[in-house]
Amino acid sequence: MDGANTSTAAPVLILLGPPGAGKGTQARMLEDKFGLVQLSTGDMLRAAVAAGTDAGKAAKAVMEAGDLVSDEIVINILRDRLAEDDCAKGVILDGFPRTTVQAQALDTLLGESGQKINAAISLEVDDAAMVSRISGRYTCGSCGEGYHDSFKQPAKDGVCDKCGGTEMKRRADDNAETVGSRLEAYHAQTAPLIAYYGGKGALQKIDAMGAIEEIAEGLSAIVTKATA
Ligand code: AMP
Repeated sequence: MDGANTSTAAPVLILLGPPGAGKGTQARMLEDKFGLVQLSTGDMLRAAVAAGTDAGKAAKAVMEAGDLVSDEIVINILRDRLAEDDCAKGVILDGFPRTTVQAQALDTLLGESGQKINAAISLEVDDAAMVSRISGRYTCGSCGEGYHDSFKQPAKDGVCDKCGGTEMKRRADDNAETVGSRLEAYHAQTAPLIAYYGGKGALQKIDAMGAIEEIAEGLSAIVTKATA
């Protein structure tokens, strides 16, 4: 790395937005394009549930109800993951922080290693559209590539475009009843973070109601600028 404008600290980007806004899809695209690591606390918690760890046991029912898992559990999981070597490349946080306590814990964690947030990007969407977005989505069981019954189908039905996997999965909490609770949790506990990052001068907003590729282009421009 050289050049006067190049920061030596690895980039830290946050994607904010309600369930269904496209955080996971966009994080994966940014990961590929910028060589960053996507950190999804939802994925980490689902892995903990599947592995039957103590954290997973405590989180399972809460996740099924569409509520937020305790700050303590999530912060511990994220702290351990951030300490892994690959995160030195820079990270895109997808689904974390979701509360002010988590945001403050993140500031502290990053401060300890001389890092800071480059940008917190809010994916702006209409709640009304989120239920159909969430209800139709599924992922490849092998590589995690995301698909949707209406908006993004694989070229060959049931076969992943990216890795050729044939086992597609739908999340247990991607159903109409749980989505309502998840949206409520977002507005009550996570939306205040928009003002939190606005106050720090780190907030960027993007209209996320359009086509996946268009949103990806807008996001790439924001990330390029924020990490310059
Ligand atoms: P996601 O995959 O981000 O939609 O998360 C799925 C579920 O995992 C959420 O509905 C919460 O129950 C839980 N979860 C994920 N991330 C967090 C977080 N940062 N804080 C609390 N709960 C979380």
